[in-house]
Amino acid sequence: MDHPLDFIPAELRALEEAGLQREVRALDSAQEPEVVLDGDRLILLASNNYLGLATDPRVVEAAVEAARRWGAGTGSARLISGGMRLHDELEQRLAAFKRTESALLFSSGYLANLGTISALVSRGDAIFSDELNHASIVDGARLSHADVHVYRHADPEHLATLLREHGARGRRLVVTDTVFSMDGDLAPLHELVEASERHNAILMVDEAHATGVVGPGGRGAVAHFGLEGRVPVVMGTLSKALGSAGGYIAGSSDLIAYLRNRARAFIFDTAPTPPTVAAAAAALGILEREPQRPERVRALARLLADGLRATGFVVPQPAAAIVPVVVGAADAALAFARALRGQGVLVPAIRPPSVAPGTARLRATVMATHTETQIDSALHAFAGARVEF
Ligand code: PMP
Repeated sequence: MDHPLDFIPAELRALEEAGLQREVRALDSAQEPEVVLDGDRLILLASNNYLGLATDPRVVEAAVEAARRWGAGTGSARLISGGMRLHDELEQRLAAFKRTESALLFSSGYLANLGTISALVSRGDAIFSDELNHASIVDGARLSHADVHVYRHADPEHLATLLREHGARGRRLVVTDTVFSMDGDLAPLHELVEASERHNAILMVDEAHATGVVGPGGRGAVAHFGLEGRVPVVMGTLSKALGSAGGYIAGSSDLIAYLRNRARAFIFDTAPTPPTVAAAAAALGILEREPQRPERVRALARLLADGLRATGFVVPQPAAAIVPVVVGAADAALAFARALRGQGVLVPAIRPPSVAPGTARLRATVMATHTETQIDSALHAFAGARVEF
């Protein structure tokens, strides 16, 4: 009799033939501007550790100390006994940072999106989602069973049309990344706020790639556009600029109380670990005391983008730390990434389904801790790799 998992080898072969098979790399070093991979020292343009805080000694020390005082794990969900003082304190600080009344931690940004979207809307309700939104938003929308209407990327007019077409039958949720993860561009937040307010829809934004990078003091795109107080549901991560792991929602006290009662990804998930929470809290403190870090990472992204353009690549002006170089075919992107690796730079090839077919790309990300010399070396590598491939 056939084995029920017999379909897997054929699927893997098909992925390989299409240039879409994925491999997990194992670094032999931490997320620093240079890393060691299979014995090679490479410039890392592939990390969301945007401010370099994942390896900052003050952040690491906070994690060590928290493990000593509070233990390595939390033992249960917050609603059972896993909630510790340090969770509450970080939530209060995140709320203050985002200028909201309250905040709620999740174990990851992925779970924050899943739990929040599926708590806010359900069958009979409607979600209006940018076509380039992150997979965790897409999956949250699926989990909610609400009707999903996808609007064209960063197109508030299309959003308004869809909002008009799909009238106020149930609850309506508009959701968008503020900095798009694979393109690095900013959502037109003013227009999205206006459309949502006009149509009495809830607006939820995902600040994963904006927090710590964009806006005054790195407070995100909502702050950048001067819209604090007008976006009712603000999601962010602790896993990128804040150098740790976890996600959060910032909003009104009522919203947070509701999510504590209704977001299954919060209710049924073990509380984030003490070292993780303490590390994020330390990172937030550094961000608040060193507001030049977001400026530095944005300046380095512009330096990389300008240099790539001077070498003949078509690269948009980066709004945050993400610099995409669209190649087209998946196998071409993979070949380019391999050639770059040969030149001493680690940049991921991003292929479908992470991006639309025909738009495979290299997604370069910079960190505030990169030096100008490292960016310069990376630019030489791009020029060299281009000839090779
Ligand atoms: N939203 C966006 C826009 C993201 O890029 C990511 C992470 N890749 C997430 C949410 C999920 O966050 P986390 O990695 O903390 O689960």
